[in-house]
Amino acid sequence: MTAPVRPLSDGWGREIHSLRVSVTDRCNFRCRYCMPAEGLRWLPKPELLTFEELHRLVVVMASIGVGEIRLTGGEPLVRRDIPDLVARLAAVPGVEDLSLTTNGVLLDRLAGPLADAGLRRLNVSLDSLSHTRFAQITRRDALDRVLAGLAAAEREPRLRPIKVNCVAIRGFSEAEVPALAALARERPFVVRFIEFMPLDADERWGADQVLSGAEIRAIVERQWPLEEVPAGPSSTARRFRFADGAGELGFVSPVTEPFCSSCDRIRLTADGRLRTCLFSRVEWDLQAPLRDGASDAELEEVIRRAVAHKELKHRINEPGFVRASRTMSQIGG
Ligand code: SAM
Repeated sequence: MTAPVRPLSDGWGREIHSLRVSVTDRCNFRCRYCMPAEGLRWLPKPELLTFEELHRLVVVMASIGVGEIRLTGGEPLVRRDIPDLVARLAAVPGVEDLSLTTNGVLLDRLAGPLADAGLRRLNVSLDSLSHTRFAQITRRDALDRVLAGLAAAEREPRLRPIKVNCVAIRGFSEAEVPALAALARERPFVVRFIEFMPLDADERWGADQVLSGAEIRAIVERQWPLEEVPAGPSSTARRFRFADGAGELGFVSPVTEPFCSSCDRIRLTADGRLRTCLFSRVEWDLQAPLRDGASDAELEEVIRRAVAHKELKHRINEPGFVRASRTMSQIGG
């Protein structure tokens, strides 16, 4: 008989089941709340974990109970042959949930190949349905291509649910809320509003720019009453359905309603550093042991040691808050 797997637990008693895997730090958008107009200094290619290395780490993670894998970046769809990686990870024993977060601009031609490869869930980021305001926030005139990507995903029944994620910024997003909420009513998308976090490369974030989930709910409810529906224990979002049954919205409110106490997530950067919180100041190097011939048991040991040190909570709302050691696109959001 094989011994039961020892759960991957942190020093505060939380079990870790979810891993965000960044496959690249590059992005083809320049969203104002994330990256500067000129981009960032990209990782040199040899620094990126190869598909073989990513597969190996996911095998080790899945063997100790990390069954939920989300691919992200940067923009994951700019990494060449991404469906090949999806196919490899989908076949890993213990991977129960494989999803991907994208800006959607390359999705029209990749939705089918990704679903064929075994992807089952998709998050598409979209902050505005107005061409002008979309271009203003992303610095790219690409709304039509993102909408074509969403339509391609919608035509692919294996990709469900499709979540549309919108970063809410005071002074910008209030006007976008009705059209985005209408999208959730008219199409099979769960539209989720995410509070702006201090992870922008320009370091312009201020607490006064956070448009809270509660404020957005109030805007929606002027038109359409909402009813809360239960969310899973480690869900980052509070879920609401339209009272007339027309669809669902989600509110991810890390600033005004932190959910750190139920956090079951860790993150792997594109260069193979493990981060135990978005706001971590320390990282755990998995690239070096991988390339120095470490055994699976040795890799597991590094992972367990990192997780044992997982931060209790982010401290965005505390005096003296210190920013994370990398920005959102470099970490993998
Ligand atoms: N490129 C992909 C995308 O657009 O979804 C994946 C990476 S992107 C960094 C992941 C998510 O992080 C996006 O939904 C993006 O809007 C969000 N994001 C970026 N910077 C943020 C910030 N400062 N606060 C909150 N969310 C942010």
